[in-house]
This record gives sequence, structure tokens and C-alpha cells, in this order.
Amino acid sequence: MDIVLATKNRKKIEELKKILALMGTASRIFTLDDFPSFADVVEDGDTFEANAVKKAVRIAGDTGITALADDSGLEVDALGGAPGVYSARYAGEGADDRANLEKLLREMEHVPEGQRGARFVCSIAMAGGGEVKTFTGFVEGEIGRNPRGENGFGYDPVFYPKGHDRTFAEMSDREKNAISHRAMALRELQKYLLEKRGYIRGF
Ligand code: IMP
Repeated sequence: MDIVLATKNRKKIEELKKILALMGTASRIFTLDDFPSFADVVEDGDTFEANAVKKAVRIAGDTGITALADDSGLEVDALGGAPGVYSARYAGEGADDRANLEKLLREMEHVPEGQRGARFVCSIAMAGGGEVKTFTGFVEGEIGRNPRGENGFGYDPVFYPKGHDRTFAEMSDREKNAISHRAMALRELQKYLLEKRGYIRGF
């Protein structure tokens, strides 16, 4: 099955490709870089799921290829679930990862240990053949006080997944991909493909 990944985020493309390769799910993987004339889909939904569906449906319609779109972000308990769907632009429109992370640390400055719980959430939508399905993955953890590690992207340097004493940014790609919200959502997708549609490895 050919798949187009409806994202231009290089880090996400790398992560998704590695996970899909491990699963042996796709025969050819395209990205939006293969369709440079397509306009960006505006992520204006209230939920990760709504944004993922909007992107997948649009890209599948435009390309005629089964599209996988993800929308993801960080929900922090002490901030009432923020930054949530605004994770990519928490410090303002066009803000970079560093500015978003610094804002998060400022907002969390007075939040004591034990109340710094958070989760990464990833919603993946698959659209094609007039069908759309969604799959959601989570990884629970805590927000640290200082950035640590060089790997990954976004809020990785301050996110300690539950049961680990290193941030996502201190983990190798392989370690992060084994437990990440994106991997969990893809696992659900894989289960669906195997169980409901009878696809087998390498179809
Ligand atoms: P999206 O591209 O709209 O899904 O935006 C997701 C935003 O959430 C990113 O810009 C990051 O700030 C954050 N995010 C999502 N997944 C991750 C992750 O695996 N690590 C760190 N930050 C993430």
C-alpha cells in the first residue's frame, strides 16, 4: 500500500518512516515534499483528532493516495491541559521550539514537584477510499525544571516519560520510538490494519 505522510516536519517524517519501516506496513512512502504545490492545511480544530482528520482527508483527496496525518502536542495538568492543540505556537504564531519550551518552563516555575504531570498525545488519521479512521496514543510523564538532552524536538528536553529518569531528548531515537505517543498511535493503526482489514506484513 502506498502512503503519503501529510506533514513537512522533518523530525516527524523521520520518526513515522522508522516506525512504519519496522512494521513493514507501507510499500512506498511519500511526503508533502513530493507534492510541493499543495497549500498547507490550517490546523484550526479544537482537538488533535479534528486537526488530524482535516489534514488526512484533504491530502488523500488531493493526491488520490491513502494519507496519514498526525496532530500532536503536550497536555500539562497544572496548566489545565495547555498548551494542547496550541503546542506548536504556545509562545505565539511562528514561535520556535525554544521559545515554546521557555514559555512552558516560565509558566511552570512555581509548580511544585508531584504536580508536574503531563502527557504527550498523538492523534493519527488515515484517509483513503472514502474512509477515515483515527487512532490515538499517549505517553504519560512529568515536566522537568531545566532542559536536558540534544535529541528529538519540541518539548522533548523537559519531558520525563513515566518510569524513566532521562528526558525524551536524552534518549536515542529507538528508545523514544518504542514508547512515544506517536508510536502508540501507530501501533493502534497497525492493529486495525491487521485485524479489521486482514492486511499482512508487506502488502
Ligand atoms: P503539530 O505539528 O501541530 O502536531 O504540533 C505538535 C507540536 O507539539 C510540536 O511543534 C511540538 O511542540 C509538540 N510535540 C508533538 N510531538 C512531540 C514530541 O514527540 N516531542 C516533543 N514535542 C512534541
